[in-house]
Amino acid sequence: MDKIDFRNNEIGEITRLFLSNGFSLQKIKNFRKSFRTGNFTKIHEMKGVRGFDKISSLLPFMTLKIFDSIRDNEGNEKFIFLTHDDLKIESIFMPGKSGFSICISTQAGCRMNCRFCKTGISGLKRNLMACEILEQLRLIYLSRIHPNKIDCVTFMGMGEPFDNLENCRLAFEWINSEWGYQVSREKITFSTIVTNNFIQILNWKRLPNLAVSLHSSDEKRRTELIPSSLKDLKEIKALLTRYTEMTGKQLTVEYCMLKGINDTEKDANELAEYLKDLKCKVNLMNYNTINGLDFSPVSPIVLQEFREILKKQGIPVLIRKSLGTKINAGCGQLG
Ligand code: SF4
Repeated sequence: MDKIDFRNNEIGEITRLFLSNGFSLQKIKNFRKSFRTGNFTKIHEMKGVRGFDKISSLLPFMTLKIFDSIRDNEGNEKFIFLTHDDLKIESIFMPGKSGFSICISTQAGCRMNCRFCKTGISGLKRNLMACEILEQLRLIYLSRIHPNKIDCVTFMGMGEPFDNLENCRLAFEWINSEWGYQVSREKITFSTIVTNNFIQILNWKRLPNLAVSLHSSDEKRRTELIPSSLKDLKEIKALLTRYTEMTGKQLTVEYCMLKGINDTEKDANELAEYLKDLKCKVNLMNYNTINGLDFSPVSPIVLQEFREILKKQGIPVLIRKSLGTKINAGCGQLG
């Protein structure tokens, strides 16, 4: 087992540890429930599981500190967590009509350097361990959701999941499992710019949903905006097509409208052409202004017209309202 936190291991390991220490399946079930719902900061503080004392020393456990939290009047809340080495990471809790959603970070900072993103400016401090990715969820659950269930989880906060893929895979399995929060795989999404290790995910036994940051179907312009992505749009499309064929899932294509950059009728027509035989829906978002960055949002009319062009060409498209912008928790505003 991992010396820092047992949640950095494969999900099956924890059950094996309990079974090999003589725990019955019923006791393991009790432990899982206490683990999900207990408000403890050290594993040995966990109460109400008979016989647990003898095994707790085999379960190192590391938590995050809640450094700060800011709530807007719609109930969205940004949490700032402090890691054991004093790095700040951010997560967002969003109550919605269809349930409780949490957007979590996968890295402290990010090295992808997307030009319109605040997280990208500060660079990468380090990858988060699987336990740190999970701990964001556990602490928000205890603080805002308990005793209800978590409905949706997006790996869309600070960081690029594919730049920390193994830890994200472990966290994905835990979140989906009975040890975690039994969030359906259909409700767990990784957001990616599509990096050159994208192909690795196609070997996983179980796959999350994907939200792909496209932002332009002009290769040169997209590379300027997202310099660390795979550059060849044909190659990206081939990979995404393989993903949809393997999983049967519909991709989400994220398109952030940037005034004077990717917002013309021509851009919309080219985007529709690029996406026409891909199983996807487009989330159209307006840019969230970030101090110090030279980008602006488009007008509501331009946003509507862009949507209409995609719609007329048969591309499923939604204008997505960015939540939490008043507390700097909108897309691209973390850091
Ligand atoms: S948009 Fe995502 S991948 Fe790009 S710099 Fe920001 S956090 Fe990193």
